[in-house]
Amino acid sequence: MSEGDAFRAETRQWLLANCPSSMREPLRNDDDMVWGGSRIVFHSEDQRVWFERMRDRGWLVPGWPRAYGGGGLGPREQRILEQEMRSLGCRQPQYNLGIWMLGPVLLEFGTEEQKLEHLVPMARGEIRWCQGFSEPNAGSDLASLRTAAVRDGDDFIVTGQKIWTSQGDKADWMYALVRTDPAAKKQEGISFILLDMKSPGVSVRPIELISGRSEFCETHFDAVRVPARNVIGGTNQGWRVAKRLLEHERAAMSKFTEGGAPTLDALATAAPYLAAAGPVWRDRLAAALMDQQAFALTVRRMQEMLLAREDVAPLSAIMKLVQTEQESAKYELLQQIMGQRGLTMDGKGHTADEQAVCRLWLYTKSYTIAGGSSEIQLNIIARRVLGLPG
Ligand SMILES: Cc1cc2nc3c(=O)[nH]c(=O)nc-3n(C[C@H](O)[C@H](O)[C@H](O)COP(=O)(O)OP(=O)(O)OC[C@H]3O[C@@H](n4cnc5c(N)ncnc54)[C@H](O)[C@@H]3O)c2cc1C
Repeated sequence: MSEGDAFRAETRQWLLANCPSSMREPLRNDDDMVWGGSRIVFHSEDQRVWFERMRDRGWLVPGWPRAYGGGGLGPREQRILEQEMRSLGCRQPQYNLGIWMLGPVLLEFGTEEQKLEHLVPMARGEIRWCQGFSEPNAGSDLASLRTAAVRDGDDFIVTGQKIWTSQGDKADWMYALVRTDPAAKKQEGISFILLDMKSPGVSVRPIELISGRSEFCETHFDAVRVPARNVIGGTNQGWRVAKRLLEHERAAMSKFTEGGAPTLDALATAAPYLAAAGPVWRDRLAAALMDQQAFALTVRRMQEMLLAREDVAPLSAIMKLVQTEQESAKYELLQQIMGQRGLTMDGKGHTADEQAVCRLWLYTKSYTIAGGSSEIQLNIIARRVLGLPG
């Protein structure tokens, strides 16, 4: 038996013994997701058990070095773990923007002190992170951001406003982009900073969404004092850190149908309505399922490229674009197949699937905006992947 085969067998055995059966069901709603942090909430004992077992093995972040609380797995072992978790249907034990996005850039750009201070608690799921990038006049044109950070001794004084801060009201810490040199060219005067959301001067106001949820906020900074040692990658060097972080964000958003977010199986959900819907809708569903399968195979191909240490970063824009547009189109289609029955979120006499389709139909509209809109992904693909002129 090769080393890989032995690791696969051992991993599968461990997962079978340690992942509770309810943690092997697809995500259906937000309560199925455990968000790490100081105010972590478990909606069932199985969630707690699964989280703690994976945490104690370092498998909340299997690929990070052991010195920073990770599992120390190499790329091939990570891939095997991912494959085995997928084949058994194991849920992610924890969701956390820190792990998807900040952790990888800290590993690349952080000092040893910064890594030890922030990666270790992140790897244990103790800190919930939020992202402070967008501002009222700096979304797609992110480099226009104006939140100011002015040096004062060993600190920066941060003043300004962020918007669309996902889970800003629940987060312990924020990674943010701030302007540290207003005179420099816009990309060159930006720093990437970590700030404690409990700092005096931080205020957060939730914004309600069309889906009835309220998962993002306005965040205001009124002369917030942040230690200068919390700048990652050097003062005025934040843009390159941000660009790398956005690649990780796009990669994370390419995995929604692989357990990254609540989703429904299109065929199983549509099946009871197909006979009444007619042949046109059956054809459209078949086409959507084929697109979905093609995307899944492309994800696998990218994972193999990663294993071969090829640079897949620019492709993350294609993956983010296709995945989020496909997910959004899937619910549009399911709703058309269900007709009026798919148009309620809490109506009596409607099944759980009908209500879920309506909720996810509304929610997936945000996928094509969050993490950079589809138009911006197309611009990135045109310039960085295809090399077209500006
Ligand atoms: C659910 C959700 C969660 C989010 N979470 C966070 C978060 O946690 N932290 C954070 O910092 N931000 C977050 N965002 C903000 C997100 O990054 C921005 O909404 C996004 O980058 C678009 O910026 P904007 O809303 O300012 O729109 P704008 O930039 O004003 O764009 C408006 C429209 O114009 C189009 N457009 C703009 N520029 C161009 C161009 N050059 N070429 C072609 N079309 C263009 C856009 O595609 C869009 O359709 C979140 C957004 C959503 C929807």
